[in-house]
Amino acid sequence: MQPLNCRVIGNNVLQSGIRELLLALAPGAPSFSAGQYLMLDVGGAAFPFSIANAPNQKTLALHIKPTPDSSDSDRIERFLDSKPVSASIQYPLGDCCLKRLPDRPIILIAAATGITQMKSMLDWLIEQGFAHPIHLYWGVLTPEELYLKEELETAAAQHQVVYTPVVSQDIDHWEGRTGLVGEVVLADISNLNAFQVYVSGSPAMVYGTLDHFVENGFQPENMHSDVFSYAPRS
Ligand SMILES: Cc1cc2nc3c(=O)[nH]c(=O)nc-3n(C[C@H](O)[C@H](O)[C@H](O)COP(=O)(O)OP(=O)(O)OC[C@H]3O[C@@H](n4cnc5c(N)ncnc54)[C@H](O)[C@@H]3O)c2cc1C
Repeated sequence: MQPLNCRVIGNNVLQSGIRELLLALAPGAPSFSAGQYLMLDVGGAAFPFSIANAPNQKTLALHIKPTPDSSDSDRIERFLDSKPVSASIQYPLGDCCLKRLPDRPIILIAAATGITQMKSMLDWLIEQGFAHPIHLYWGVLTPEELYLKEELETAAAQHQVVYTPVVSQDIDHWEGRTGLVGEVVLADISNLNAFQVYVSGSPAMVYGTLDHFVENGFQPENMHSDVFSYAPRS
């Protein structure tokens, strides 16, 4: 795959230190499907980031969360702090994406920055007038990490979207759902096999969720995640 050079058109800090990098696609560059990711070149090393917007021919939005005590993450931060005017990417990647509208309701489950992939899918489904209900679950450690809260609440108020943020740490000022996001999904939805399920997060989170669902009668082929391709279990 040929690297693609993109102009940087935005480099912002969002809530909780999340970085937003906005790239302009050159005319004639390929588009992508909702849910795909790219490899961002940072000084000769390439790092995967999901594309956080719905497909279009013009822009790619990345939301990048700093990882404490990670030299890779420090390197990415230094790159962003250097205010680059362009960035080299390999793109589009990943087969956990929406190439056409599913014929049944959807459950999108994100852990932390996994929300980027789910946001791309959600925005595209809404744009396309998806006729079935969409359930979006977002698991985070603390409420402060819900950096897309208002945007997702607005989507839920205006469309057929049920948005459920889930906080896993014991927090006094949080009145919403608590615990592990997969357990909350199971508590809410008894007929999981009636849905197409997409999950984004670390391999441990995705496989933990899958196993828990399967123990409760879920057919594993109904779950889709990039993790199954880049971190296969066997
Ligand atoms: C396919 C894919 C997409 C990714 N998309 C993003 C993104 O949109 N934003 C972002 O900040 N990081 C994303 N990551 C993680 C990111 O690539 C790393 O954080 C970065 O390379 C720094 O490396 P690290 O060794 O410090 O972190 P790692 O130890 O590799 O990961 C650290 C953090 O990234 C999270 N992470 C791991 N896999 C994914 C995933 N599939 N999607 C989202 N988060 C994940 C982990 O839960 C953890 O919080 C993605 C990783 C993969 C494999």
